[in-house]
Parts: sequence; structure tokens; C-alpha cells
Amino acid sequence: MFNQDREQAYAKTALALMGGAGVVATPDNFELFYAYASGENPAVTQVMDAIINAKQPFTPELLADLRLRRLSGARAAATMESLGGDMGSLINDVLGKLEISARVAADYKDTLSAATGQLGGDRNPADVRKLVEGLIAATRAMEERAKSLEGELQASSQQVNELRDKLDDVRKESMTDPLTHIANRKAFDDAVDAARRASAEGEDVCLLMCDIDHFKKFNDNWGHQTGDQVLRLVASCLADNIKGRDVAARYGGEEFAVLLRGTPLQAATLVANQIRSTVETKKLVKKSTGDILGTITISIGVAKFAPGEATDSVIRRADACLYGAKHNGRNLVINQGDPRMAALETSAA
Ligand code: GH3
Ligand code: MG
Ligand code: MG
Repeated sequence: MFNQDREQAYAKTALALMGGAGVVATPDNFELFYAYASGENPAVTQVMDAIINAKQPFTPELLADLRLRRLSGARAAATMESLGGDMGSLINDVLGKLEISARVAADYKDTLSAATGQLGGDRNPADVRKLVEGLIAATRAMEERAKSLEGELQASSQQVNELRDKLDDVRKESMTDPLTHIANRKAFDDAVDAARRASAEGEDVCLLMCDIDHFKKFNDNWGHQTGDQVLRLVASCLADNIKGRDVAARYGGEEFAVLLRGTPLQAATLVANQIRSTVETKKLVKKSTGDILGTITISIGVAKFAPGEATDSVIRRADACLYGAKHNGRNLVINQGDPRMAALETSAA
């Protein structure tokens, strides 16, 4: 398909979806649904998929929230671009200054050589004095130039530091889930890579896969935005129960992954149970209305890296344990050594 045809197809899909969902065709809304139709922004696609599949209404608040999510991706890209531009002009600036400094030093050297030449032969004291005065003036000028260059380079180095800090902020933002403020999937992928290498060298590393129980029903009852509040709450329960080099990440929509470093299976299972019970004991209240929403629970599967084992295989095992926890009634932690897993395998065979 030509680009134009593709764009028209996206526009048609966007309009049809808006019509179907009863969303007013404002330019802002069209932009959002166009982004969904083209799949340009995974964060937006994921959430909109869930809403469309659940046939939930697109309330004005929800639309505003979605626009924000879309913007945060676009903002990171724009910041990156502008930082790249700043960095480029700063480098040119510093290179220019270094070039001037080299030229000034070369000129000074020429002045000295010329003076050395003139000093040879028979010179009367007045000539020598003039020569020395000239040399002193050249040296002063050189000194002053060097001093001012030093100041300019110091200012540049300050700018480099500021840019480095900004880059660091953008890097952190790109590794953080905008909704829950814990590590995102990309950060988890990096962390799991490091954990796999550590386990190959003999460190005990466990992986927890966590999933909210009956979350679809919760969203259906209380709305997607309240559901998002629950995601933030679960994320903070995870963050509160880990330490040091452990990493808690949003793995997918309502799924979370936790890497526990230097932790054997039994200890990891204890941490998982602590997380599970922290979530269970939170009383949920809808901020806007004060409605009591009851409690929510999560199920967790726990697996341990075998030395040298591939990441996929550990994730599959933790997922199987999570499935086991759901199968055995939810609000439950099951690890890879749990006898209930063996029962599950026998019944599946
Ligand atoms: P189970 O106990 O078996 O896990 O049941 P469940 O309903 O949690 O599982 P299911 O996978 O059927 O549904 C997951 C739901 O999570 C679907 C979707 O409504 C919701 N969800 C996924 N991502 C988000 C999100 O970013 N925000 C909100 N509010 N809900 C989300
Ligand atoms: Mg799920
Ligand atoms: Mg779930």
C-alpha cells in the first residue's frame, strides 16, 4: 500500500472506532484514535485495547488520561532530539575554542622564535630593551588569552554537566513505567539479563511473576481509572517489600515481575507471601467519591534460575507457578517446588 492509502485506512479506522464508541470527533480525540489505529504508541494501544475489548465507555477523564500517556512518549522523543542538538552545538563550540587556543599558542611560539633570531648578533641595549618589552607584552597577551579561554572552557564544562544530568533524567524516564513509576518492561529486560549472568556465576536469583486476581471484574465494576489506581497501589506494595539490587517492574498490563538477587527459593517465597499479604490488607477507597471498594488480591509464581539457564525458561516456570496459584484458588503464592505443581503437571498430561 502507498503511504497515502495507509494513512487513509488509519483515518477511516479511527473514525469508525470513534463512531462505534460514541466519542465526539474533536481534533484531539481524532489524533488519539489515529495513533491507536496506526499502532504508533504501544502504551496507548495496550490500554485502549483493554477498554475496547471490555466495551467500556470512553469518558472525558479517560480520554484526557490517554492523551497524557501518548504525550509522555512523544515528549521523551522531543527532549532526546533537543538534547542531541544542544550536545552537537556544545561540541562545536568547544572544538572552536580549542582551535583558537592552538592558534594563539602557535602565534606565541612564532613570536618567541622571531625574537631568538633577532637576539643574535650585535644589538645595542635600546634594541634589546625594545625586544624584551615586546616579548613581555606578547607573554601577557598570551596569559590573558589563556585565562579567558580557561573561563570559557569552564563554562562549557558546566554546560556538559547540565546536559549529562538531563540525559540521565531522560534515560531514567525511558526505563520507568509512567503509570506506576516503577521499572518498565525495558528496564526489566536489562535487569533480568544481569541477573541471569549473576546466576551463571553461582548467585541465587529468583523471579516472581505476579498477577492481580479478577482484575477485569474490578475494572468493569469501578472503571478503568480506579483500576489504574490499583495498579499504582500494587506497584508500591512491591517496591516496599524489596531491597538493594532487587528489581520490581510492570511486566504487562496488570502483571508485575520481581527479581530477587542473592535470594534462595524459600526466602523468595517468603518475600512473595509478604507482598501478597501487604496487598490483601490494603483497604481500597475511591478517592473521588469515598466509596469503599473492598480489597484486592494477587497471585504469585516463584521460580529460581538454574545456573546458566535461559531467561525464557525461568519466566515460563514462574508463569506456570502463577497459573498454579490461580488454579488453586488465587490470593496464593506457589513456587517451583510446591507439590501442587506436580499435581498440576500430572493432570495436564
Ligand atoms: P485472573 O484472576 O485470572 O488474573 O483474572 P483477570 O480478570 O485479572 O485476568 P484477565 O487477563 O482476564 O484480565 C486482565 C485485565 O486487566 C484486562 C484489563 O481490563 C485489565 N488491564 C490490563 N491493563 C490495564 C491497565 O493499564 N489499566 C487498567 N485499569 N486495567 C488494565
Ligand atoms: Mg493477567
Ligand atoms: Mg489478572
